[in-house]
Amino acid sequence: MTAITCDALIVGGGVAGLFALDALRARGLSALLIELTALGSGQTTASQGILHAGVKYALAGAVGDDAGEVSRAAALWKERLCEPAGDLASVKKLANSCFLWRTAGVRGMVGMAAAAYALESRPLPVAASDRPRWLDEVAGDVMKLPETVIDPRSLLDVLARRHIGQLARGRVAHVMRVGELLQIEIEARVPMTVRCRELILAAGSGNEQLSRLAGEPLSMQRRPLRQAFVRGALPMVFGHCIDGAKTRITVTSEQLNGGEVVWNVGGELAERGASMDAHEFAQHARSEIEGAVRGLSLSGFEFASHLVDRAEPQTQSGRRPPRAFAHSAHGVTTLWPVKLVLAPGIADEIAEKVAGRVAGEGTAPIAWPSTIERLALADRPWQSAQWSLLS
Ligand SMILES: Cc1cc2nc3c(=O)[nH]c(=O)nc-3n(C[C@H](O)[C@H](O)[C@H](O)COP(=O)(O)OP(=O)(O)OC[C@H]3O[C@@H](n4cnc5c(N)ncnc54)[C@H](O)[C@@H]3O)c2cc1C
Repeated sequence: MTAITCDALIVGGGVAGLFALDALRARGLSALLIELTALGSGQTTASQGILHAGVKYALAGAVGDDAGEVSRAAALWKERLCEPAGDLASVKKLANSCFLWRTAGVRGMVGMAAAAYALESRPLPVAASDRPRWLDEVAGDVMKLPETVIDPRSLLDVLARRHIGQLARGRVAHVMRVGELLQIEIEARVPMTVRCRELILAAGSGNEQLSRLAGEPLSMQRRPLRQAFVRGALPMVFGHCIDGAKTRITVTSEQLNGGEVVWNVGGELAERGASMDAHEFAQHARSEIEGAVRGLSLSGFEFASHLVDRAEPQTQSGRRPPRAFAHSAHGVTTLWPVKLVLAPGIADEIAEKVAGRVAGEGTAPIAWPSTIERLALADRPWQSAQWSLLS
């Protein structure tokens, strides 16, 4: 059995784990990451990649300062993404802004007014002559929000390339304490023992079981979504359709290699869709999308859907936790970023604390042995979805 000693072992290679690895190594700590399957195979590759200006949370009103938190986080991202010297400048940006439009009727009007009032980055009205064609038949005001949309798989790629030698595939089998250190047994192509001061659990839906294994159990909640995908000769659409205090649909788009476009559609549609079967959902999604994008007919387009859980710390209400979550005790930190946009901020906070605890006693930089299995990036969910033609 090969044994390695390092400052920190991170478990889970989604956006949370990779940002944590990046932040720890930037502070000179020796850190390694272990992932069960492929990088970002849970929530990150399913994500819509919106660096939120906070529209959803501003609409919900009751959830306090969430909208402010995400929009402040989005501003920090901008420096890293958009400045030429920013370390994330090579991440693929899909859009620099999102449209905000409303359903017809009073609920839509009230929702639009609430969003415009509550958002930190004020949406700007779009003149009728500047609207894209797909908004031609939409009633009422259309606004534009300064929300950047990124390709989350490209983000994982940029982060992973920086730390190739520190990423490996394996499964944590046992965690025990040996004096000041944690000893972690890893089942992998070549079984490994890792001894470290700090264990960081960033495994999304895997965190509950891992936190038990590490002797620091935490309760988790899963909030399921059923995302809708539409594929064909579609326009590139980025935006939210507002209905009262809800985002009826949120659409992001990606151009595929053959030139076709795939829409990833979430929002209230995906929340409700989680309790429907695939067939019922296809009908519901079609009527919601056609109702929100007036004048659009989905006949002749392909449709698919994808069920995925948002994994978060348990809240009393069962609703979304108000902010990114990290809990540390006895060298074990459990991390749920709650939103992709919040992942770098919470990773920096954790790394700062770990650096303080390890101060002066750190081990030399380290990589996995070359015999261990390396990691691939997970596909985006529509790449393996079951498509059917809409009549
Ligand atoms: C459909 C959808 C759309 C979203 N859209 C947005 C958005 O537009 N903007 C935004 O800010 N946020 C969005 N989010 C939220 C955001 O995607 C998540 O908060 C974020 O990706 C969570 O990252 P993570 O690294 O914690 O988890 P994950 O991405 O789930 O990664 C966890 C990783 O851990 C691995 N793993 C699991 N168990 C183990 C184990 N035992 N050992 C080792 N590895 C393990 C998994 O294979 C996976 O690679 C969205 C989420 C969903 C589901």
